[in-house]
Amino acid sequence: MHRPPRLTFRNDMARKVDCGKFLVIEATRDEMHRACGSPGICDYCGKVSDNGYYIAVLNQWFCPKCYEEWKKDARYYPEDRPVEERNYQYYSKLLGV
Ligand SMILES: [Zn+2]
Repeated sequence: MHRPPRLTFRNDMARKVDCGKFLVIEATRDEMHRACGSPGICDYCGKVSDNGYYIAVLNQWFCPKCYEEWKKDARYYPEDRPVEERNYQYYSKLLGV
């Protein structure tokens, strides 16, 4: 008798990603759902995505494609830092980063 294969989930791997000065957390749709009831819809293109990036300075979750696009022209404004920090602290706690 075969044992069912052990399921490996791509969940539970929210992590901070290196994005210059920006605070960004890579998190799956499931993680965002568990953390804050997010439906896993990209805040930029409106499509459902299994994985994405929480961008603290925008307080938005983008699919990988939109995240790559955003990175190209993202400009960092030091005056946004306090809000970014606050958003990041809040979500990193929820996501267990
Ligand atoms: Zn998108």
